[in-house]
Amino acid sequence: MMLLVYNTLSRSKEEFRPLEGKKVHMFVCGQTVYDDAHLGHAKNYINFDVVARWLRCSGYDVKYIQNITDIDDKIIKRAQEEGTDPIELARRFETRFMEDMEAIGVRKGVDQYPRSHDYIAEMVFQIQLLLDKGYAYVIDDDVYYDVSKFQDYTKLSGMRLDELEKHRIEPREGKRNSYDFSLWKAAKESEPSWRIELTVDGKVRSLNGRPGWHIEDTAITHAIFGKQYDLHGGAIELIFPHHTNEIAQAEAAFGVKPFVKYWMHSGIMLIKGEKMSKSLKNFIRIRELLKRYDAEALRLLVISTHYRKDFGYTEEFIKKAAARMNYLYASLSIFYNMNETSDEAVPEEIGKMATDLDSGFAQAMDDDFNTPLALTRLSAAIDFLRTYAQANREIGKAAKDLAVESVINNAQVLGILGKDSYKHKLAPEAANLIRDRERLRKEGKFNEADAIREKLRLEHSISLEDSEYGTIWYSTLQS
Ligand SMILES: [Zn+2]
Repeated sequence: MMLLVYNTLSRSKEEFRPLEGKKVHMFVCGQTVYDDAHLGHAKNYINFDVVARWLRCSGYDVKYIQNITDIDDKIIKRAQEEGTDPIELARRFETRFMEDMEAIGVRKGVDQYPRSHDYIAEMVFQIQLLLDKGYAYVIDDDVYYDVSKFQDYTKLSGMRLDELEKHRIEPREGKRNSYDFSLWKAAKESEPSWRIELTVDGKVRSLNGRPGWHIEDTAITHAIFGKQYDLHGGAIELIFPHHTNEIAQAEAAFGVKPFVKYWMHSGIMLIKGEKMSKSLKNFIRIRELLKRYDAEALRLLVISTHYRKDFGYTEEFIKKAAARMNYLYASLSIFYNMNETSDEAVPEEIGKMATDLDSGFAQAMDDDFNTPLALTRLSAAIDFLRTYAQANREIGKAAKDLAVESVINNAQVLGILGKDSYKHKLAPEAANLIRDRERLRKEGKFNEADAIREKLRLEHSISLEDSEYGTIWYSTLQS
């Protein structure tokens, strides 16, 4: 089977072939740590977490890194507002960011979270190379990249140079072109700054300031991966100027093209038709949402849309995702709790279900990580098991293990069904209570039925859900 990846650089799906055998070097633009992460960030990091999981599952040896931007205008601004040190502020939000990433199941997939602070020397090295090769110039303590010197500047975005004029927002007397961007910014009063030395036209100059935004990523990836690597991900809005400028820096400095083989971009999270963002103040913090909904419900919500599409968030959608997640657990639980026999033969239909699921799931994921289709196939397999359990009294252990293993292995790629609450057996007493409640409901005695529901919840950690498929139960014990 062949993995197809949509490459923004060619605007087409391409066969995925890493630079070196099965080794994949993957970088995703990480967090600027000046506030808590919101659902827009969750979408982006879950999207790329699933990419890394599928690559690993397909036998690739993935090294996945994500930078932590801890030098930035927004960090400085917020630190000044709070009257704290920018570094102290950045560390505080970095810790909270890691907690959030852990909670949504993406933390462990990332091998390294390098901080921009630790790569200043590498940034200076790259800026010096760009100066030496004639791609950069200095005005006082500022260093700019001369965009007119780099032929391929618009290859990623497909924009025209005159369109860029409208976007540049760094006016400065002496700039060669309006769209030239900062490599190094002169220090402003009461801001953190570094004194660095650069050789300009044969003379050593001392500049006081801090790095531009785009140089951080190429410094980090050059230090860790070298001049060229396989996969760069980020949200679609980063194509221009951020990723465009990364290409200009790295390809000009090191002369290796393409600097990144596959550029992947994820769609954004919308709320009421607008981008969820800090600046619009329309964001929902991950940690706030997780007080009310399970993290797997959030993951299910994100993966039910293709990563390249935008997603319009509503409370209704997360509620539905939570209900669907419960239903998947409940269905699996019904199958898992079938009476087990020692029969070693696997019924043909169970064997077929496992083979079909494995191949159908892989086929969906190999087509540019089509998670909505993969999820549909996983759900269909679980539905089949539920129906099987309702039609058959018992099952051999071998068949049960095969079916459950197939479901769980595929679900792990999506990062759902990671709890083994479906393994909990329904105690006979609880089973009787559920039957009593059913009877009371039929008799119209809803208050008494509700009292039983409450008793099940408190004394047996059993939640009930009256679905279109009848009443289902699932254990709320976390394990
Ligand atoms: Zn970046």
